[in-house]
Amino acid sequence: MPLKALLLITAALGCAATPVLAKPKAETPATVTETPEVIATRLRDAALQSNAAYDFVAQLTTRFGARPAGSDSERKAAEWSAAELKKMGFDNVRIETFPLVIWERGAESLEITGPFAQKMVVTALGGSGATPPGGVEGEAALFETYAEFIDSKADLTGKIVVILQPTVRTQTGQGYGVNSGSVRRSGPEEAKKRGAVGYVMRSLGTEDHRFAHTGATRFTGVEGLPALAISPPDAEQFERLLKLQRAGEAAPLKLKMVSTPTVRTGGQSQNVIAEVRGSKRPNEIVTIGGHLDSWDLGTGAIDDGAGVAITMAAAKVMIDHSLRPERTVRVVFWGSEEVSQPGDLGLSGANAYARSSASDTHIAAAESDFGADVVYALALPRTDYADFNKTLGKVLYPLNIFIAREASTGGGPDTSPLNARGVPVFDLQQNGTDYFDVHHTADDTLDRIDPRKLTQNVAAWAATVWMIANTNVTFQPTNRK
Ligand code: ZN
Ligand code: ZN
Repeated sequence: MPLKALLLITAALGCAATPVLAKPKAETPATVTETPEVIATRLRDAALQSNAAYDFVAQLTTRFGARPAGSDSERKAAEWSAAELKKMGFDNVRIETFPLVIWERGAESLEITGPFAQKMVVTALGGSGATPPGGVEGEAALFETYAEFIDSKADLTGKIVVILQPTVRTQTGQGYGVNSGSVRRSGPEEAKKRGAVGYVMRSLGTEDHRFAHTGATRFTGVEGLPALAISPPDAEQFERLLKLQRAGEAAPLKLKMVSTPTVRTGGQSQNVIAEVRGSKRPNEIVTIGGHLDSWDLGTGAIDDGAGVAITMAAAKVMIDHSLRPERTVRVVFWGSEEVSQPGDLGLSGANAYARSSASDTHIAAAESDFGADVVYALALPRTDYADFNKTLGKVLYPLNIFIAREASTGGGPDTSPLNARGVPVFDLQQNGTDYFDVHHTADDTLDRIDPRKLTQNVAAWAATVWMIANTNVTFQPTNRK
């Protein structure tokens, strides 16, 4: 996506091609004559000159690496984050803990033992079951689509189900969304119910590199089944072998899969919470944030170190300029977003926060959890506040961001428990065209983040959150479809 407008602004401010790491010149408190629009514009431009978000995600990923839910690494990252937020001048910095069942990856492999014997590149799905240490063997039941598998009347007893459905590249992430709920989340349980001894799926990834993408699956009514994701090139290899099989050139493939994850009860995870306390209406809360945990394969840079860094930096720019919003801006680093939990849909950190803040008046909530590419649109909780939307549009257009004509239908996974109880959500929509190239892989590392694109995000969040925290608009009720 072109960044013309952003570049114009940075050029006007004298920025070099790389982000300028300028400190704010002086404290510039709001005066009674300055409208929220004027201050939002000032915060937007100040954010474009700051490297606070990039510095934070660089430190987070360097100091702690991967931050699996419930791990020591996640806990230490939370403690470090809380200390950093205090140093930055945030109010009411605290850590809230909650119990977690911890899933840990073990050994994992998949090979075709014959015909056409060869090894595949795989990774186990979070929450999946274990094979015996020596693995399981079975005939492959290959399906080109998930629907073909669901509709199949074939006897799958003792077989290893292999789903080859690709993930379609889109800007919005819809291509991923339609597969994550079915192929990854429900597929292993469906295979188990049909008597399969293992489940293999094409990774939910949009690139052609030989990386496997992990992600959570879940079992509600049955015991776990071993489940692996294979890299896209390996899935295409299976497609060609399937053609040979259909042409009568090969007997059914025999597979051997090994996956030995362990599950530990009695674990713990945590949310980190910090605020810029409101000056006039402190009990009205605007909650923003990202999730601090990551998958274990990479270092969780785009998912979701970027999100915590963006939202933290958006609030920090207010502190740095001694600008206190009328309403309280609360930043939450949710814990354990990635993992499923027995008996529910997961989102343990989000649910813990929803419980602990149940008596708070939330005006609006949003999460940044879609990588580090630029924001191109803002979907607000309602579309009928013409003046507010028009004013905010004027602040955001120079960043190449428009106000969406449709109301927001989701503010990120960790805001969903809030939204379910009626809290309005907004959505700064990022370009997700490349997001699923490295999502949940060993390749999710800091080098995937473009600092200039990250600052565009911070500028958008700072301006938007300032406007929401300083308007009389309540956004209630959410006009969800
Ligand atoms: Zn995420
Ligand atoms: Zn994720």
